Amino acid sequence: MEMERTLKGAGLFDIWQKVKAGERLNFDDGVKLFRTDNFRAVGLLADYVRRKLHGNRTYYVINQHINYSNICGNGCRFCAFGQSPGSPQAFQLSVADILDKVKERLNDPITEIHIVGGCHPALPFSFYLDVLREIKKLRPDVTLKAFTAVEIAHFAKLSGLSEKEVLQELRSAGLDVLPGGGAEIFSPRVRKMVCPEKISGDEWLRISRLAHKIGIRSNATMLFGHVESIEERVDHLLRLRDLQDQTSGFICFIPLAFQPSNTSLSNLAKVTPIDCLKTIAVSRLLLDNILHVKSYWIMLGINTAQVALHFGADDLDGTVIEEKIGHMAGAESDQALTRSELIRVIREAGFEAVERDTYFDIVRKAA
Ligand code: SF4
Repeated sequence: MEMERTLKGAGLFDIWQKVKAGERLNFDDGVKLFRTDNFRAVGLLADYVRRKLHGNRTYYVINQHINYSNICGNGCRFCAFGQSPGSPQAFQLSVADILDKVKERLNDPITEIHIVGGCHPALPFSFYLDVLREIKKLRPDVTLKAFTAVEIAHFAKLSGLSEKEVLQELRSAGLDVLPGGGAEIFSPRVRKMVCPEKISGDEWLRISRLAHKIGIRSNATMLFGHVESIEERVDHLLRLRDLQDQTSGFICFIPLAFQPSNTSLSNLAKVTPIDCLKTIAVSRLLLDNILHVKSYWIMLGINTAQVALHFGADDLDGTVIEEKIGHMAGAESDQALTRSELIRVIREAGFEAVERDTYFDIVRKAA
């Protein structure tokens, strides 16, 4: 009753009736949810859906992030990670360096290695194939989640292969899943302003579709809180939902809060926790066909990430170990959490901690 009173008071009773009936929300519903001043009411709706799907579970993964290079010619204005060759902050790991990082963690019960980098102008396609092959030799048991749709398009351009051939070769070398980066905001207006050199939103969706079609599943992201409008956020979410209707290939959706420090958009304000929570909640409500929504603690910080578990998110990501993309842009979170810290954070938020693999198959429940 109290929930209904809150939702009526917030002018969201019509949306509550749709949510309760399991009806799909539309574009106008999404805009209305973003525009309401009562973010708690949006959270109540998202939490209702989240608990219906996942009960009291919150997932985490024992994973390792590896960034092979930050050298990139794209110059996206929101990015503090990408550097031109010769920049003092530029780095490039060799296959041996990458294997050393994997070897350092060989005794950890890692189930996923996440590998991304910039669009390096000179590294040959064979480098990426070698990275995957050599890691798989060392750790045949881990899932390799590597290379965004943006990197896939870059490899195709560099190698002269089609994107499909690139994906097939990477898969033969050990690629299991694509991470969801590079989606940013699909709107051409926004991309023209913040990442004109990057592939378009249509291309990102096309490459994701191609991957799903040949059996490579992927994640999806949305970078929010820079120059996009509310309508452009909703459009982004609905375009993901449309593709998921067709392929069922997305495993998890990850809303990424823009981090302005050290970027060309450093004049913009940092995204507020309220905006983060509302965006996660609206994502949960609109993306009725993507089972998991991540509260990515690296970008949100632990405090907001914990609260987000009550606003529709069901996953906290993982141990990570070393993170460069968010931290070069001023993310203030730690770079790593241990399994026991992840479990403590989840329990403190009132949830049951469940370890998962990349596909959200359960590895173990915390004792
Ligand atoms: S977001 Fe990616 S593509 Fe854009 S500059 Fe940064 S590393 Fe390069």
